[in-house]
Amino acid sequence: MNNEIYLDGNATTCVLPAAIEAAVQAMGDRFGNPSSTHATGLKAKAMMDSVRQRAVRLLGVGSGRLMFNSGATEGIQTALLSALVALRDKRQRGEPVGSLLVYGATEHKAVPEALAHWNRLLGLDFELAKLHVDGEGRHDLSELRELARDAALVCTMAANNETGVMSDLAGIEAVLKDAKALWMVDCVQGLGKLALNLAATRIDYAPFSGHKLYAPKGIGMLYVREGAPFTPLIMGGGQETGQRSGTENMAGIAALGAVLGALEEGGTFRSLTELQGFRARLADSLQRALPGLVFNAPFGKALPTTLNFSVPGLSSKELLDLFDAANVRVSAGSACSAAKAAPSYVLDAMGLPEWRSSSAVRMSFGPLADEATIAEACARIGRCGQALRAAGLLADAAAETAALGGVLQLTAGGVHTWLVCDEASRSCVVIDPQAELGERIAGLLRRHGYTLTARLSTRDGGSWPSESEQLPLGGQLLQRVALNHTQLAYLLGEGEECLSPSEVRYAFTGDAAATDLARWVSPETLLCAARETQHGCCTSLRAEAQAARTGLADMQLDSAALEALLQSHPQALLVDVRERYEQAAFIPGGRAALSVPLSRLADELPVWLSAQPQVPLVFFCRSGNRSAKAAQCLRRLGYAQAYTLSGGLALASPGLALAA
Ligand code: PLP
Repeated sequence: MNNEIYLDGNATTCVLPAAIEAAVQAMGDRFGNPSSTHATGLKAKAMMDSVRQRAVRLLGVGSGRLMFNSGATEGIQTALLSALVALRDKRQRGEPVGSLLVYGATEHKAVPEALAHWNRLLGLDFELAKLHVDGEGRHDLSELRELARDAALVCTMAANNETGVMSDLAGIEAVLKDAKALWMVDCVQGLGKLALNLAATRIDYAPFSGHKLYAPKGIGMLYVREGAPFTPLIMGGGQETGQRSGTENMAGIAALGAVLGALEEGGTFRSLTELQGFRARLADSLQRALPGLVFNAPFGKALPTTLNFSVPGLSSKELLDLFDAANVRVSAGSACSAAKAAPSYVLDAMGLPEWRSSSAVRMSFGPLADEATIAEACARIGRCGQALRAAGLLADAAAETAALGGVLQLTAGGVHTWLVCDEASRSCVVIDPQAELGERIAGLLRRHGYTLTARLSTRDGGSWPSESEQLPLGGQLLQRVALNHTQLAYLLGEGEECLSPSEVRYAFTGDAAATDLARWVSPETLLCAARETQHGCCTSLRAEAQAARTGLADMQLDSAALEALLQSHPQALLVDVRERYEQAAFIPGGRAALSVPLSRLADELPVWLSAQPQVPLVFFCRSGNRSAKAAQCLRRLGYAQAYTLSGGLALASPGLALAA
């Protein structure tokens, strides 16, 4: 998408136009195999040799080895295998070797996973020792001094992929000066950003990856110091002078050559000062847009191309969705799963509080970044802040515009908290409140001018504020019922006194499958459970009974199928189930859509379910997950014409313009 601002350079970068050109040439008339001895092969070999020479010069390889491979994960395997085989042989010869395989606590997972793998596979039984980092993400050199006495191998990184924190390589080298240990430095994030003169250091192995610096995926390099032990990972036809068999990835090598050429010749990439200026502008926009934001790594010790931050009260998933809606691509500092955002082990290792580690966002760019992109990114960051403020989700947000009334579902870690809000009396009850949502709920109520009437629990009852089992809530009635010894349910409906089953519109329960519910509700009553179930939002007793017969087969529509449906059913409704702050950040244009965030789906369901005739409803969101939940929920509740745009806006064809 041309309107995309890509700020996820530490994950991967686009490919430099000159690199694409070089790759195309290597796949076109320069297609030769460098092992062939005829002229076509010789031309290919000449190209490969010249790229290697560039790398040798740029990285200061000296008389060490520099081989091409598929990327850093392979380079790491080769380096660790080489070291471990040498250590094993030494041990077998009775020579002294250390007992520890030391690795930095913030290493990319490829390092500790590969260490454990090869250690196990080779039956070596070395002990893996984690080298801790301080609050700024830098290795604890006094601990390293202790570990170095018994270290067989030390693995550290040049710069961290999540935080950009640069290791004190000179300090580590000084500590390892008299140690026997082999030393691998993962240089992936350093390429093109840090000055490297490898042969002048004590580093034994240094893996690199092309796709972190404008070369394509699938091409990498490994430096091995002269005299450092080496064992090939891949055997075969003897390519790369027997160091790495397999016909070379010539398109990748050619492309990498173009990037290295740009680095060597200068003029293509921004200077350090320019990159620092870009970071300062992004940081300033972020701080202005998102009050309370904290940066998770000190700028003075990090690459200028990485910003890692957390915002109080906002999860990384929410921020990612928001930025994505504004067409700004960033990534979660922590691994997000559908159920719960796992804290970042990197930030955990730095000792940051749990909330920062589990809600971190990483914004990273490469040295090709330009003025216009940074300016536009800053403008969109500002718009994201406004969208959050309008949704009442920022600490300093002014009065809310959108109404809060009705049933609202808030989810954290796969558990639902339900809010029942009465607009007329500005009162609200919260059912099964979760501690982590406390601030969010308090803020929402405060900004909307609501008072909290009761905090209820489907397990122990919470604080029921009424003498009787009924609690008036505006024109509605909330009724408490005990389903069994351990579970309560809260019934909501319009009725004078005790709600009859047919009057109950919603039943809030711990578990939607509770059989005892049948006494209290009708088959159509919407059941709102606290626990995440496969139906995502709401269900009903009828839906539960018919679950096996619910047809979901044709629920997914791709862009073409959606176009066709809209042609044949002009009355079909498009429903945007993203949260309002995402919709506000979206650059509008295109077909009008109804805005019903997934958190408000329960509120809208009665309207749709009672409408006659039923029109096709097509739900869409960012990636297709939330819209699938919405469509599935409606289908289960008997609404046959509910659909989801598969892959969401992310995969929608450019011609399909949807807007809230
Ligand atoms: N090491 C670091 C620090 C990285 O950031 C990455 C990629 O995310 C890797 C290793 C793995 O690199 P590759 O994708 O080339 O296998």
